[in-house]
Amino acid sequence: MVFGGYTRLLRSTKDSKLMSNHKCPKCGTDMQEGFTLEHRLPVGWFAGKPEKSFLGDIKAAGREHRHIESYRCIGCGYLESYATDIIS
Ligand SMILES: [Zn+2]
Repeated sequence: MVFGGYTRLLRSTKDSKLMSNHKCPKCGTDMQEGFTLEHRLPVGWFAGKPEKSFLGDIKAAGREHRHIESYRCIGCGYLESYATDIIS
């Protein structure tokens, strides 16, 4: 009975999004969670191909927009990014 409860606890911990168990695909070392900044704003991911407005900037209104989670390998510095939660 005690072991059944322990197994459930382990499974829920393993499935948790909060736990970072990313391993580097290049060298197998643990990866560290972080994010990238551009002009002091976190970089996001937008669905579709970029289109320029008549002012010359990139149109992003109405696009699926997601946070980017970035992981850095502690061993070799390799970066791996995931487009995760929808922002708008
Ligand atoms: Zn690595």
